[in-house]
Amino acid sequence: MKILVINTGSSSLKYQLMDPDTQEVFAQGLCERIGIDGRLTHKIPANGAKYEFDIAMPTHAEAIQAVMDALTSAEHGVIKNMDEIDAVGHRVVHAGETFACSVMISQAVIDALEECIPLAPLHNPANIVGIRACQKVMPNTPMVGVFDTAFHQTMPPRAFIYAIPYEYYTKNHVRRYGFHGTSHYYVSRRAADMLGRPIEELKIVTCHLGNGSSVCAIDGGKSVETSMGFTPLDGLPMGTRCGAIDVSIIDYLMQTHHLSIDEVMDILNKKSGVLGVSGVSSDFRDIEAAAAQGNERAKLAIDMFCYKTTKRIASASAAMGGIDAVVFTAGIGENSAELRAQIVENLGFMGIKIDPAKNNVRGVETDISAADATVRTLLIPTNEELVIAQDTARLVRGE
Ligand code: AMP
Repeated sequence: MKILVINTGSSSLKYQLMDPDTQEVFAQGLCERIGIDGRLTHKIPANGAKYEFDIAMPTHAEAIQAVMDALTSAEHGVIKNMDEIDAVGHRVVHAGETFACSVMISQAVIDALEECIPLAPLHNPANIVGIRACQKVMPNTPMVGVFDTAFHQTMPPRAFIYAIPYEYYTKNHVRRYGFHGTSHYYVSRRAADMLGRPIEELKIVTCHLGNGSSVCAIDGGKSVETSMGFTPLDGLPMGTRCGAIDVSIIDYLMQTHHLSIDEVMDILNKKSGVLGVSGVSSDFRDIEAAAAQGNERAKLAIDMFCYKTTKRIASASAAMGGIDAVVFTAGIGENSAELRAQIVENLGFMGIKIDPAKNNVRGVETDISAADATVRTLLIPTNEELVIAQDTARLVRGE
């Protein structure tokens, strides 16, 4: 079976054509600068080939067409024609409380996702445009929506309710939703496999630490608590996002600097996090390099990020009344041995200890626990595309 996985951003579109059963990736790539000019990077993992093209992409429809042309091209294609694509799986960020699992896309589903646009104004419109663009080019191919929020719909009310007047929840849907669900789901299942134990028996804390970061408590395979909230701005400090702050800061900054609410929200979304504190970069590689050269603010940004992640791991464990394993994934979690070590440094009292030699690894599934640890610490590269492809295949097969 060949499934095309599509992840649409406001000016970008990532794709991967893969077999969900053998996990073979036939081709993958990225359309960038949609609506500006247009650039396609197309890769074929089997032979390591990489192609780059400048293609006019005034809208996502041209981007999807460019992907189709690349996939079916005589020179660098991997399929003869589009009929070889059995189904398309779309990543969608926000499904509100409507969908707790992946679904076949129908007009009713698109209508429901449009209703969620106020909850994710930056992400959902692009996701919907991506679905429509695909439907236009492939009108007869089944499409499936896989939602970042779906995995967290198992959170109990005590975890998802905010302490504000209840009618803002009932009337305006203001509650904690959580994101990165596909990643937390994937790494928790791989963790159970690595530990050789049924997921139903395990209490796992998964740490998705990348440009966006979140921690999730997974009890018996279900998300019961996560650090992101109503939007992906909540929780841990991130590359450019502030994470959880005292909301009074918003009003104070507006008054002190005569800023509009849009300007303050822009600061909190795009100029805060480790970028804001370090003044160096949103990328941890740059910040680690600056810290190594003695930059005090870069060091502070790292210390702050690790400290808050440490506290989140402990509080996620408290939410479950225990912990069997902690998992590190995504760009930072998979690559930075230093940050992993710093994050768990203070968690020895909970039985979380890592072996420095085993921790000296990147990007490969590894049990990095110390011999005397009572909680396993695992490094597991995430694979959201695989979950999307497998969910899509399952729904198309009617399983
Ligand atoms: P992601 O959003 O999962 O793609 O993660 C991207 C982030 O991972 C980058 O912005 C970097 O901050 C971080 N990252 C990637 N590689 C490394 C590395 N070798 N060391 C530290 N951080 C890294």
